[in-house]
Amino acid sequence: MYRGRFAPSPTGDLHLGGARTALCAWLAARASGGAFVVRVEDLDGPRTVPGAEARILEDLAWLGLTWDEGPDRGGPFAPYRQSERRARYQAALDRLLDERRAFFCFCSRAEVQRASQAPHGPADDGPRYPGTCRALSRSEVAARTATRAPSVRLRVEPETLAWTDGVCGAQADSVHDTVGDFVLRRADGIFAYQLAVVVDDAEMEITDVVRGDDLLGSTARQLLLYRALGLSPPRFFHVPLVLGPDGTRLGKRHGAIGVRALRERGLSSERVIGILAATLGLVAPGVEIPPRALVPSFALARLSREPTRLAPDVVQ
Ligand code: GLU
Repeated sequence: MYRGRFAPSPTGDLHLGGARTALCAWLAARASGGAFVVRVEDLDGPRTVPGAEARILEDLAWLGLTWDEGPDRGGPFAPYRQSERRARYQAALDRLLDERRAFFCFCSRAEVQRASQAPHGPADDGPRYPGTCRALSRSEVAARTATRAPSVRLRVEPETLAWTDGVCGAQADSVHDTVGDFVLRRADGIFAYQLAVVVDDAEMEITDVVRGDDLLGSTARQLLLYRALGLSPPRFFHVPLVLGPDGTRLGKRHGAIGVRALRERGLSSERVIGILAATLGLVAPGVEIPPRALVPSFALARLSREPTRLAPDVVQ
């Protein structure tokens, strides 16, 4: 049984890029006769915008991207909000610590920066961790914990991980060489996205992860976590980004890129779905179409690997 999901972070309104990812994930689930789950990724408290979750859900519903399980309607794997699932992440972390697959680290970001000699890994993750706290003894950990809250990192051994993405094809990543031992829980107690997403996708029995290709570089870390936790990973499909008309990453400078902004400008949901579907090569530009009409002919494997641009008249 296919189980797909869309996992928005409630840090603002649903923008066209997010809506396009949601459309792909929804179409893939519906085309397989499977279930579609919405999970809200609100672990990073300071970045969470009050009211954003409700607005995102409302925009998804307006687009016609219906879900079977989610924070508003529950389901067999409730709760569907990460802020309410922390005990599960802690349990996974405790297990990894007990098995010495994870370790406590007392380095600040600046210290990692200074100690790291390797070139930077994926941009959002900062410099490669050089292994500073890997070999601390229990008593050293206890002594240091008295003065500084530690983060927890996964122990990553040298290895090139080969895996296949359903859209982007064959991948080979060495987490050891690019990121190193990566953070599972920050020193301020916030669980890392990498840990939470693996625990949740596994527990919610997600079979197919369809998401933006900005997360392609995270997948190897997640595969290592699946293995360390003795879980089997889902299939992954990374959908290429949608760019602004100028070919740069979609952002505020492109104007009205929120679904809500287009809606307020008077566009119908069928028009917005048509715009998104055109960027995926599913319909000709200018078509108005409800999402269910796209289901019969949809195949993830046929999506283009190339990023596409929005037409200039969409964002203005
Ligand atoms: N919450 C993540 C985001 O909004 C998506 C995570 C995922 O799909 O794995 O970027």
